[in-house]
Amino acid sequence: MIELDDRTRAFQRQARAWAQELKPLALELDQDPDAIHRHLDVAIVSYLTRMTVPPEFNPDPVVIDGHRFYGTGTLERVVFAEEAAVGDAGMLLASPGPVMSGVLVDAMGDERQKKWFYSRVMEKPTWTFFALTEPDRGSDAAAMDTTLTPDGDHFVLRGAKRYIGNAARADLGIVFARTRPGPLGVTAVLIDTSAAGFTAEPLETIGLRGLRLTAVTLDDVRVPAEQVLGRHLRATQRGMWSAVQGLNRLRPGVAAFGLGIARAAYEYVLDNRRTPNTSERHRLDRLGLRLTELRQLIWRAAIAVDDNEPAAGYLASAAKARASRLAEEATLEALGHFGPGARLDHPLLDKLARDARGVEFMEGTGNIQKLNLFTGLVQGGLRRD
Ligand SMILES: Cc1cc2nc3c(=O)[nH]c(=O)nc-3n(C[C@H](O)[C@H](O)[C@H](O)COP(=O)(O)OP(=O)(O)OC[C@H]3O[C@@H](n4cnc5c(N)ncnc54)[C@H](O)[C@@H]3O)c2cc1C
Repeated sequence: MIELDDRTRAFQRQARAWAQELKPLALELDQDPDAIHRHLDVAIVSYLTRMTVPPEFNPDPVVIDGHRFYGTGTLERVVFAEEAAVGDAGMLLASPGPVMSGVLVDAMGDERQKKWFYSRVMEKPTWTFFALTEPDRGSDAAAMDTTLTPDGDHFVLRGAKRYIGNAARADLGIVFARTRPGPLGVTAVLIDTSAAGFTAEPLETIGLRGLRLTAVTLDDVRVPAEQVLGRHLRATQRGMWSAVQGLNRLRPGVAAFGLGIARAAYEYVLDNRRTPNTSERHRLDRLGLRLTELRQLIWRAAIAVDDNEPAAGYLASAAKARASRLAEEATLEALGHFGPGARLDHPLLDKLARDARGVEFMEGTGNIQKLNLFTGLVQGGLRRD
């Protein structure tokens, strides 16, 4: 059984208190994703604007019980993400901040790129994005068609991306593109969305609507050579390898969104179904146990990522696959406690069930996580115990 240390427990308590502020805003944001602009002063949103900015670029971190929190550790992030998602996963994902692209800039950026990226993020609340998926290349992202072509002293980016969170409101982001065939031909570049040829159109969605998924068009976008990430790294450490490493670091956090959504549904039933019968009580008890088991798996995966364990990616896949499944099962089960009209009578539960479906697709579907997990088991990268 993994226990949190005093420092992380203090942060967990703070995140739980902050999350209370999100609950009343959840349905407003679901109806109008642009409502986030009215709530930038909410404590959790302020924290997210700087979460993952490393100490050398963040002179003013959150301090709790004398401890400084930068959000650079995976365990710290999953503990935070679960609590925040109990408040509202939509608000968490709608917030400005560097989280997804920041993890990649940290892993792949040179000193000048880090300075450029983090100083922009620290100036004001800044949305960022991370564009890997394409209209015809989702699970098979490595087969992407977007190209990055040299043109004199710069590069030209051409193609389309789809289902990209926050891109229409972002100032900065990372785009993956191909310089030549094969996985080693994939490269990541930093983009300023004011560049000519960059457009991002919001898509209609039903779950996690705050995230504002978009379709991005890259119509001969000029990319200065110094915006190409990983030029100082070996060829094998750039591109797709870095995407996989970055996603491995982020995946336990996505699993924690799923856990938070499942817990929100469970707590909603406890708060609103005052006299459950015996069978309902048993179902709730079983769900409570599954939440505890999943939390342990997510913490285990997060610690493995922080410790650079070879099996970290596989554990992160196991956590994500189980979390998105539990989020869907828990939210549907919660609706079942309130009878046939539950989706209309309990709009928050209806929203949680729609959000849970969104988690299934983020960072790779359940099938893709299971394929990764089985690869680990078959090839010996992951032990059964
Ligand atoms: C809320 C949300 C946020 C997102 N944010 C981002 C973002 O910020 N940036 C970004 O780049 N992308 C983002 N995405 C896109 C996400 O990564 C893709 O939706 C995901 O990779 C799946 O791709 P797809 O939608 O094209 O589905 P497909 O790949 O077409 O999959 C459809 C179905 O086929 C199954 N399938 C596919 N291949 C296999 C296989 N080999 N074996 C078994 N089953 C298979 C899948 O499991 C799924 O059930 C987001 C998506 C959502 C819903």
